[in-house]
Amino acid sequence: MARTQSRCGAPTLKGTRCRRLAMKDASRCDRHRGDWSTYTVARRKAQEKAARRR
Ligand SMILES: [Zn+2]
Repeated sequence: MARTQSRCGAPTLKGTRCRRLAMKDASRCDRHRGDWSTYTVARRKAQEKAARRR
């Protein structure tokens, strides 16, 4: 049985990888899972900005 808990590994705004441990039922930590994490919101804003540019 693997006892190693997977890391989050989500790319942060600084360009580094998240070092937090992932949550038990998710592949991301509590900061990066979900739709309203700082990382997800930042990405969504960037996408909306790009989409608005016509
Ligand atoms: Zn994370």
